[in-house]
Amino acid sequence: MDRFRYHDGVLRCEGVDLEALAVEHGTPTYVYSRDTFRTHLADLTAAFAELDPLVCYAVKTCSNLHLLHELGAGGAGADVVSGGELHRALTAGIPAERIVFAGVGKSEEELREAVAAGIACVNIESESELELLARVAQSMGRTVRAAIRVNPDVQGHGTPEKTTTGTKGSKFGIDLERVPRLFTRAALFDHVRLIGVHVHLGSPIYSPEPYVTALTRVLELVDKLRADGHEIELVNMGGGFAAEYETGVAPGWGAYANAIVPVLKPFVEGGGRVVMEPGRSIAANAGVLLTRVRYLKDAGPHRVAIVDAGMNNLIRAALYDSFHFMWPVRPADGLVPPGRAERVALPGLSTYDIAGPICESTDYLARERELPRLTEGDLVCIFGAGAYGMAMASQYNSSLRPAEVLVDGEGSRLIRRRDTYADLVEAELGLPGGEF
Ligand SMILES: *Cc1c(COP(=O)(O)O)cnc(C)c1O
Repeated sequence: MDRFRYHDGVLRCEGVDLEALAVEHGTPTYVYSRDTFRTHLADLTAAFAELDPLVCYAVKTCSNLHLLHELGAGGAGADVVSGGELHRALTAGIPAERIVFAGVGKSEEELREAVAAGIACVNIESESELELLARVAQSMGRTVRAAIRVNPDVQGHGTPEKTTTGTKGSKFGIDLERVPRLFTRAALFDHVRLIGVHVHLGSPIYSPEPYVTALTRVLELVDKLRADGHEIELVNMGGGFAAEYETGVAPGWGAYANAIVPVLKPFVEGGGRVVMEPGRSIAANAGVLLTRVRYLKDAGPHRVAIVDAGMNNLIRAALYDSFHFMWPVRPADGLVPPGRAERVALPGLSTYDIAGPICESTDYLARERELPRLTEGDLVCIFGAGAYGMAMASQYNSSLRPAEVLVDGEGSRLIRRRDTYADLVEAELGLPGGEF
């Protein structure tokens, strides 16, 4: 599933020793495997080859320009959800005709930027947005391609409520039964071409069935729209494919494809185009967060390890109660994990709460985790941190956002330097009196 492996008792990313990397760049630091990014993209594309999909990587997942550039070079497009992400995707060299734009609250300015760039498709999430896009495109004398994001009222499988988007009453998308009216309305606009239907159910979705259910409903809608005389060129199935946070739990690409391809095949054979928007399934296991144990102390029944990474660097545990496997980079007694799971069946483990340095009681990366014996100064690797890790990092507590390093074979390069104190105050204007 990725290129992070133990060799002679030390964790490596591809051919690079992570201990050496932590010494070179300090901690906390995100480390990404170029090969894992590229392989995930290639495997997904191969699994769905019969549909010849346009794979638009969800930029919000992990948005460093260098990673976007790598994925773009591997043939990916981009799914963006803001003007800022559009800017990133274009800056990284991803062609506009491979960019799709979702999001419930796009501003007029963001719509203008999308029209100006000439992107593949704006995914519309409300009737008012459609009206605004029409006005914007008309004022610019341009024509824009758009799709309606529908809400198919389908619950993901194993998907937490906090990351579900496709059920009734959600702020995302437009209820199925309201969609035909929008197509009728849009037919009156000269500058918007409604050419497709988009669906994204939330994530992670640990089974192909919700996709099958949702896409079956979407294709019924497509038939109805076509019968009404609308040209439907595109179906976008969104993202949400699960990543292997634990060994063997997520369905592989083949399992998703086996169920989904037959549903969409007739649409493609009829000349339709399929878009996919994977995020975490590409990025999560392509990145880890390296952190060092600063202090060990006893608190009640637990031993607490205070590490130098916290919710400011990786918020998923604090925000969603997400599980991240973690293990020392050079484990005591040579205790290398047999797989990644909540419970590791090895003798000689100790129980720790892993806490960050932030002044918040939710700032834990893990509770009651069984790990090889830790010593102050030990380096710990937090796995599956490539998705929604750095992308959600903040400067809370005026902390410095981490460095990011990209490993490629035996080599590595810094693709984002660690913040500095100057970065913290840069956007705040000068004090009265002119100090600083
Ligand atoms: C977040 C998002 C995705 C990606 O979700 P993953 O779970 O990371 O695959 C895809 N499409 C849209 C519209 C999104 O908002």
